[in-house]
Amino acid sequence: MTLSLVRCDLIRRQNLINGKWTDASTGGRYAVSNPATGAVLAEVPDSGPADARAAADAAYRALPAWRENLPRERAALLKRWHALILANADDLAKLISLEQGKPLAEGRGEVAYGASYVDWFAGEATRVYGDLIPQQQPGKRMSAIKEPIGVVAAITPWNFPLAMIVRKIAPALAVGCTVVAKPAEDTPLTALALAALAVDAGVPPGVLNVITASRSLGIDAVAQWLADDRVRKITFTGSTAVGMHLARESADTLKKLSLELGGNAPFIVFDDADLDAAVAGLMAAKFRNGGQTCVCPNRVYVQAGIYDRFAAELAERAGALKVGPATDPVAQIGPMINARAIEKITRHVEDALHHGAQVLTGGKPLRQLGAHYFAPTVLVHASEQMLLNREETFGPVIALFRFETEEHVVRQANDTPFGLAAYFYTQDMRRAERVARRLEAGVVGVNEGAVSSEAAPFGGVKASGYGREGSKYGLDDFLSIKYVCQGGLD
Ligand code: NAD
Repeated sequence: MTLSLVRCDLIRRQNLINGKWTDASTGGRYAVSNPATGAVLAEVPDSGPADARAAADAAYRALPAWRENLPRERAALLKRWHALILANADDLAKLISLEQGKPLAEGRGEVAYGASYVDWFAGEATRVYGDLIPQQQPGKRMSAIKEPIGVVAAITPWNFPLAMIVRKIAPALAVGCTVVAKPAEDTPLTALALAALAVDAGVPPGVLNVITASRSLGIDAVAQWLADDRVRKITFTGSTAVGMHLARESADTLKKLSLELGGNAPFIVFDDADLDAAVAGLMAAKFRNGGQTCVCPNRVYVQAGIYDRFAAELAERAGALKVGPATDPVAQIGPMINARAIEKITRHVEDALHHGAQVLTGGKPLRQLGAHYFAPTVLVHASEQMLLNREETFGPVIALFRFETEEHVVRQANDTPFGLAAYFYTQDMRRAERVARRLEAGVVGVNEGAVSSEAAPFGGVKASGYGREGSKYGLDDFLSIKYVCQGGLD
């Protein structure tokens, strides 16, 4: 698959700043490559602090007019953007697959999923209500008004090049904020194509600005936004270490943050579960995007009574998965994003084997396909001292822990600094209610492996961050509340 699209003007190799496509001020560029082959797809600007500042200048200048627009005008713009995203779904899916590696069918799924957030927030734009506070004193009226927080900086990861960035831009624009955005260095092309479609939809100059950068210059570019007190909010999805860094470095300008960070999701299968449904739920939740999602089950606990049956069935299904590049129409798992990912997955598997795990299927890189492929893997006899118990593997590896009691497994599931997603399967309704309540996670799937929806609040607790994306709560992070007290009314 080469970099050619039906609409070739969606292949953008420049930043969007103040409505103009521009190079980095230094003229620097870096290469974006296809993880399936290593081939260079395009070169894009390697932007630094000067470009970040120019983007923030533009966003700050555009803010007064944008926030004064009627909500339904902002909603109309988002609806046009939504329609254009869907109209160009094939091109966007191809870009996603080319730069990120996921199979084309998954790329199409991501376009539909991401677009649903734009549609959702177009609706929510017109429903930002305040409150008239019941009167406390004669002649006084007290009200609470919700206002856009100001310029928002969005920083996103590579695993969902479209969905992660629209989940941030759409609610920000909906409430009247302006945006500066920096996509992940591995996957900037989808973000630039989305920006081109936003321009087509009529986004005014400066309201949405997107800059691209390599990892090292990108850190300096973001540092510029962290220190800029005109940027009032950071919305970030990525690793916990970087999220903590952003929180620390933005403390001097006291920005509002929403941080969607790493997970270490438990997936619990009780003896009384519907075994087929649990296997199917785990397959769907784990192998989506080759295991490279923050809500992927990372620690799978199976109760002793069904452990062997569950492991055998799972290994059979995982072993039958087709691995290959996005160009292969039957591929269900693509390449991992880069060599660092393969190194981490290999290290986790080797460490698990060293601590007594056994491989039922997979267990190694698939070098015959290319440098970045790893076989879908099922390991048994997982234990707490293994690395994969403590860290996200972020790859197609399932390790099965055996457990005896509900009390013990809930304690184990919660014994992690993270708290993004958690899943469990049971047919006992009282247990369903009890365990859902006790799990320390922002998102819980009960007899369900596919939990994401634009209508639901998505986000974590503990070291998985704070803030919620999607749903009616998804606007809150982009708003501040102003209390107005009007006197002399009697
Ligand atoms: P990452 O934290 O390395 O990078 C994310 C973004 O931050 C990229 O744009 C990167 O360029 C930028 N960045 C990196 N270091 C920076 C620094 N010092 N200063 C400023 N910006 C910096 O994460 P990743 O490897 O791209 O993504 C994988 C991680 O993201 C996983 O931990 C995964 O769980 C998490 N994730 C979380 C969610 C969620 O919703 N909670 C969703 C997807 C991924």
